[in-house]
Amino acid sequence: MLGIPLPRDPMGPGAARYARERERMVEEQLVRRGITDPRVLDAMRKVPRHLFVEEALRDRAYGDYPLPIGEGQTISQPYMVGIMTQLLQLTGREKVLEIGTGSGYQTAVLAELARRVCSVERIPSLAARARATLEALGYTNVWVRTADGTFGWPDEAPFDRILVSAASPSVPEPLFEQLAEGGRMVLPVGDTVSQILTVVERIEGEMRTTVDAGCVFVKLIGKYGWEG
Ligand code: SAH
Repeated sequence: MLGIPLPRDPMGPGAARYARERERMVEEQLVRRGITDPRVLDAMRKVPRHLFVEEALRDRAYGDYPLPIGEGQTISQPYMVGIMTQLLQLTGREKVLEIGTGSGYQTAVLAELARRVCSVERIPSLAARARATLEALGYTNVWVRTADGTFGWPDEAPFDRILVSAASPSVPEPLFEQLAEGGRMVLPVGDTVSQILTVVERIEGEMRTTVDAGCVFVKLIGKYGWEG
């Protein structure tokens, strides 16, 4: 045995194969379905989604579906991450609030595209794992906190963008209050079976709402969401 250590691979074993799967995911699931923002496409070409799921699910990480991440929660389908991120219209200068960190995958995509990301997750074990994954990948512009995200993150407000990745019965009031003037929020609004992706803008203090595609998310559980 020569004692030569193998080079450390920060993207994990199989990195090259996963990179090809990622490229295919972007072409087949995002570009072909009309995601056009080049910054969003590049970010999703870059972030190693397979490292945000447990090892046994890694080979399915680039499939066209959500996957379980424990605690009855899921990592969102790649297309859903793409469309929500595109709807946020990020330029790189924004301070973003995310509610529902989950695996931290969407958080990483936001971290690639914004100045700073504050993310709130109500389940401590998920928050801890997401924090560890994001740290291992070298993200330094992300803060993950365990709390009921329907209250937002008052100490860090206002936010230029807010993304909620759990289904809400309505637009939680504290989140609109913490949205900066000219800011945008994207969230699924509806019942617990299905929702509509909703874009909320704050224009001269007033709420302007437009709707996009239908979607299915796990419940937003909290004071301004659903009861647990
Ligand atoms: N973007 C995540 C989605 C995870 S699923 C990903 O792709 O991995 C939605 C997450 O929202 C779950 O982890 C759930 O625990 C969390 N959640 C639900 N209600 C919440 C609340 N009130 N505050 C913060 N997180 C919440």
